Amino acid sequence: MNREDFPILAQTIYGKYPLVYLDNGATTQKPRCVVEAMSNEYYNVNANVHRGVHFLSQAATALHEESRETVRRFIGAGKTSEIIFTRGTTESINLVASCFTQAFMHKGDEVIISQMEHHSNIVSWQLVQARTGIRLRVIPMTDDGCLCMEEYEKLFNERTRLVSVTHVSNVLGTINPAREIISIAHRHDVPVLVDGAQSAPHFAVDVQELDCDFFAFSGHKTYGPTGIGVLYGKEDWLDRMPPYMGGGDMIKTVSFEKTTFNTLPYKFEAGTPDYVASTGLAAALDYLTAIGMERIEQHERDLTRYAISRMQELEGMHIFGPLGEHIGEHDAVISFEAKPLGASESTPYIHHLDMGTLLDRLGIAVRTGHHCAEPLMRRLGVEGTCRASFGLYNTREDIDRLVDGIRRIQGMF
Ligand code: PLP
Repeated sequence: MNREDFPILAQTIYGKYPLVYLDNGATTQKPRCVVEAMSNEYYNVNANVHRGVHFLSQAATALHEESRETVRRFIGAGKTSEIIFTRGTTESINLVASCFTQAFMHKGDEVIISQMEHHSNIVSWQLVQARTGIRLRVIPMTDDGCLCMEEYEKLFNERTRLVSVTHVSNVLGTINPAREIISIAHRHDVPVLVDGAQSAPHFAVDVQELDCDFFAFSGHKTYGPTGIGVLYGKEDWLDRMPPYMGGGDMIKTVSFEKTTFNTLPYKFEAGTPDYVASTGLAAALDYLTAIGMERIEQHERDLTRYAISRMQELEGMHIFGPLGEHIGEHDAVISFEAKPLGASESTPYIHHLDMGTLLDRLGIAVRTGHHCAEPLMRRLGVEGTCRASFGLYNTREDIDRLVDGIRRIQGMF
């Protein structure tokens, strides 16, 4: 779908193999319109935002604020004041961990996370934990790679203050039942942060319909530029949270005795924002909207099912995450390990690093390692996996190349 919009995909790797890019979970490629929107701003509009009375500053400010409106529309938020630009999902989660804890938590209070979180939704809390004595509770996972919802309910008690979970696992591809997770938490009067790093690029998200209290995602995984991301927060929570960082733009008045803070969303946006990246992000989101998130979702679901069924034809193949009756909960991320051809039960799997390196030699880009999810790796009993993750421009031919590549590598060992 729309491959011609992504010039990088037309290249040949090692002068031999047309690129098959299957590392979209790490970052997506950028369509021409994103790069052009950014270069246009640098060439024709560039000036610092929110500060100048002059023409260029006003134009750059208008672009930046229009981008905020584009983000609002894309995730279905009610107000632009609820859209905070950050550097990415990681910074968005750190912001909530730091500011929410400061406003609403005391020693011994609890945050619920899950077994399948990315490090950014574990370590951010641990840093706060070391400062404040809060506690982390972890939702366990079934062997199918789904969250144990019964165990989740049992984790709530009078000290629970927040639930912070990923929408889609970056390792297993599991689409977690966000609406159910949120309504259970709300029944206990507990707000929910949804890590949308792996959902926003793949299917339509409506934060008001989900009724999540916070939602985080990254520009670079959503076909936009690096260095920008979003934190959505319900106004009521954001209003009552203290600022994250101090500096320009986030203040109303400053004296040596007392400083008062700006209104939302600027209270959380200290310093010069990456206003060129916000333009690029808006161009990316408009691009996705023009294609249609439902079409993208359908295309990627089709690819995922095709990939799983083709990979399952291979002997000695082990695919992680929801399969069989749960395949509908499997998004466009496939972690796998494979044994050499003719291997016995006791033969170890080919090391993920060897598999990834040899696939690369065939022009196929996949990710290897722990995928910033070491606790999940421990739960799966592996040190790492090989991960193929799909984007809107991937094709069945890409999958065929992957499957042929894996088969060829299996034959080498
Ligand atoms: N959360 C999930 C589920 C992710 O997959 C990632 C990145 O892979 C992140 C958070 C962190 O995103 P970023 O590095 O863009 O801040």
